[in-house]
Amino acid sequence: MFDPPFGTLAGPAYECAPIGLCTLDDRLRVLACNQRFQDLAAATAPLVGQALDECLPGAGDFLAGLVAGPPSSGEIDLAVDRAGIRQVLRLSATRFEGGVSLALADITASTEAHEALQRAAERSSFALESAGQWVWDFDIVENRVWRSQQWKRALGYTTEELADQDEPWRIVHPSDRRVVQAAMAPILAGTRSDFEATYRLRHKDGDWRFILSRGKVIAHTPEGRPARMLATSIDITRQKQVERELEATIRQRRALEHDLIVANRRLRLLAEIDSLTELPNRRKFDKCLEREFRRTKRERPSIALAMIDVDYFKSFNDLYGHQAGDDCLRQVAEALQQVGRPSRDIVTRYGGEEFAAIFVDIDAPEAVAIARRMAEAVDRLAVPHRGSPFGRVTICTGLTLFRFGQPRRLRTPYQLVQIADRALYAAKAAGRDHIAVASQLEDGRFEIGLIGRDVDVDIAPAD
Ligand code: GH3
Ligand code: MG
Ligand code: MG
Repeated sequence: MFDPPFGTLAGPAYECAPIGLCTLDDRLRVLACNQRFQDLAAATAPLVGQALDECLPGAGDFLAGLVAGPPSSGEIDLAVDRAGIRQVLRLSATRFEGGVSLALADITASTEAHEALQRAAERSSFALESAGQWVWDFDIVENRVWRSQQWKRALGYTTEELADQDEPWRIVHPSDRRVVQAAMAPILAGTRSDFEATYRLRHKDGDWRFILSRGKVIAHTPEGRPARMLATSIDITRQKQVERELEATIRQRRALEHDLIVANRRLRLLAEIDSLTELPNRRKFDKCLEREFRRTKRERPSIALAMIDVDYFKSFNDLYGHQAGDDCLRQVAEALQQVGRPSRDIVTRYGGEEFAAIFVDIDAPEAVAIARRMAEAVDRLAVPHRGSPFGRVTICTGLTLFRFGQPRRLRTPYQLVQIADRALYAAKAAGRDHIAVASQLEDGRFEIGLIGRDVDVDIAPAD
């Protein structure tokens, strides 16, 4: 078929080689080639004496370049069309004194596999990139990390930057390094195979980006130690910002709600406080009496009510002026409040120069004792009053007590006020500076007695 130019080329080894072999002279004409070369080059006529350009387009320039310089070797991949089918041939050439020896191999299959692999890699990398994620591959044994290009791109770096193995670690936020190390420790120790960490990385523009990384150990050494971990990372800065904004909004709302509750409470308190004496006002008195009256009917043993009125107060105002009258009311209010049982008795300003005190869980002697202490406290104020026969400001008290299970049950707290009022009237009628007590008899009627002097007044509750 052809005359082998060199003895070494002849023989079955040359002819049976699985790749195409060929020898060219220094003018790049075929001196010899085996059948495989002839087939791969798809030459219909024997190649000996021919140039390769016609059957292997592109080979001519490559070979011309090779022979132009000093003896060397090189290779080129040639895409050829064989009856409509694309084939990739790899031509390897070694130049020697006086010619070139060639090897030609069909690498179509491996090229396709390589291309398919590349396409698959491109597809998955595109999918990850579209999802804002990037991949990294941690060789635990070698302690090296491979990161996909998106990693650098997402953080604003070029592919050439952060090339040093340790550089990426330096862009982890110093406060978060411990977080990453803590998440990685069980992976390195082989006690966990799932990795998850949220930390900050410095973008090239100087900003910190929140990164969420999740990985899984995918290979182990023959001894069972973790060898490789594959992980993805995602920039969650925006999500973190939204979270923070949401938290701030919630905090703000809570603070507002709290302020509103406090303001409401103050408003309620103000609405129930008398501004002159700072005692609970009539509205608060009504509420408290209603509540305590209901409780007494249900569970509490007793409730006592004292209606207190300043004597000759109109003339006090006339003599000393309204301002002095106000001061006097303030002093009386304070005196009344100080002698009651702390945090149990409710002393209120009923209206004008009249006060009302509610005593819960109390018996008659104790209620009388408190009423006495109140009158004495006002006495001790020793507020001069020329218009009073006593020469000083005094009070009158009408006191009544309602017990759980009393023979004639009172239906409303208003009845209690009425009875105490009648007692107060009796105290006034007795000459002022008196305490009168209305107590219920066995037959349900009320008897009013003056402290110190007994005065019987028959008053039945309105029912
Ligand atoms: P009595 O001994 O019968 O209780 O006679 P009184 O003069 O105290 O009673 P009266 O009801 O005739 O007069 C009460 C006076 O209290 C009339 C009013 O000017 C005065 N007063 C009511 N509220 C206030 C107040 O807030 N400040 C001042 N300075 N005076 C008040
Ligand atoms: Mg009055
Ligand atoms: Mg009065």
